[in-house]
Amino acid sequence: MLASNGIAIRAAYPHGTRMASLMERQDKQRVAMNEATFRKVNEAMKVGQDPAGLLPFVCECGRLGCSKLVQLTRGEYEGIRENPRRFAILDGHEILETEEIVERHDRYLVVEKVGDPGAEIVEHTDPRRPLD
Ligand SMILES: [Zn+2]
Repeated sequence: MLASNGIAIRAAYPHGTRMASLMERQDKQRVAMNEATFRKVNEAMKVGQDPAGLLPFVCECGRLGCSKLVQLTRGEYEGIRENPRRFAILDGHEILETEEIVERHDRYLVVEKVGDPGAEIVEHTDPRRPLD
């Protein structure tokens, strides 16, 4: 069924029709919502954890079904959370259509959302965002 599958739609409209770009936008929205969800999980998980040493966080990538853990120190995690567009993910889990790698570490990568609509979604869903 084409309508429920962005990849199939793109294959059916290889020349970048309006339908294809619409699906692309929905894909990016889905990726951003995934990342925002995992960030929320991680914000809840860190409560009560020992601040010393490595802590397990859920990989914040936008891939469907990823439930891998990323090991971060509290300081590393806090550094990423200072920027609402940044997420900690495992190497290889980046989705370069909607984010760019801004830091590479042995245990993880830091990606930053770029472009519309992903960047806007993750900023508005930032649990640390002050109330307007
Ligand atoms: Zn992942």
